[in-house]
Amino acid sequence: MRRMVMVAGTAMAMLMTAVPAGAAPQTVPNGPWVQERQQVQLQRLHNYEEMVDTLRQISQSTQGRVALEVVGRSNEGRDLYLARVGTGATKVLYITQQHGNEPLGTEAALQLLQRAGKGGAGWDAILREITLLVVPKVNPDGAERFQRENHDPDCAGAFCTPGVGFDVNRWHDPAVAPENNPVPEAAAVQRVFARYQPAFVVDYHHQGSYVSDDGDLITASIFWPNAAGVPASALTLSRQVCVVIWDTMSHYGFAEISQYPGTLPRGIARNAYGLRGAGSVLVEFRGDIGQKSAGMLVRTAYTIMGAVAESVAEGTVYLQDPARASLIPLRGESVDDPHE
Ligand SMILES: [Zn+2]
Repeated sequence: MRRMVMVAGTAMAMLMTAVPAGAAPQTVPNGPWVQERQQVQLQRLHNYEEMVDTLRQISQSTQGRVALEVVGRSNEGRDLYLARVGTGATKVLYITQQHGNEPLGTEAALQLLQRAGKGGAGWDAILREITLLVVPKVNPDGAERFQRENHDPDCAGAFCTPGVGFDVNRWHDPAVAPENNPVPEAAAVQRVFARYQPAFVVDYHHQGSYVSDDGDLITASIFWPNAAGVPASALTLSRQVCVVIWDTMSHYGFAEISQYPGTLPRGIARNAYGLRGAGSVLVEFRGDIGQKSAGMLVRTAYTIMGAVAESVAEGTVYLQDPARASLIPLRGESVDDPHE
């Protein structure tokens, strides 16, 4: 009985968190990525075909400002897309949904591409300084099955779930050449990095429902590379990006940011692109996508994507004190499924 009351209280807290957050006051500069008071209506997730249709629509409706190219093929034969918008010299790469059952970053990325491609004063200024690169739904085969791994039932060896497939986010190690990479989805991202040499890479994930001790559901955990051998300059850039995300989300008040307890494998994108010299960050959203909070989580993701792009374009990211990243609170101990 007592337990049920607590659950109900938690649900109420979730709703109360979500509702006022939708109209959060804008206490930081209004980037063109800000969605005013608009609530994201997430009616349903884009499956792979719908995502491709949407990408094409965005490319057409923006007269090609958002350009598409196929950068690889999934293990099951689905084309992997890179969307590119902007003419700036500094490249910023976002990748989403390496884990098929973590779809909200893809939804946010589609909205970002739509908005950036539409242009306007704010975005035009940003896109003169940066070129935004997005590989949405890196793992479409896993996404279609709503599973973490790619679809490779015959996989074997490291980071393979026998009968299911590989963990895509363990196969970005610079020591593994794309042509020798058993995971074509990761190889495609490796090739994109090699071709465009982005200065920044942000990898978007999320995990299941989690409520903090304070009763806050809508949170994100972020982290920089921690593998041995990451150049100091890349580590600095990574931590500066984390500070930008932390400050932005703290100002907006609709996300509690914590440090993700990331692990050391070099093949994790966060580590692998840091090892290659980029500012490389993991963003891990929390929240149950079956809840009404899904729209809010997409909005959180969209805001982070926009804020990072803007800070790179305006150069403010380079002004951040990287040491402040260590002040970001550690993630609570109660989460049982580290998911990066
Ligand atoms: Zn993940």
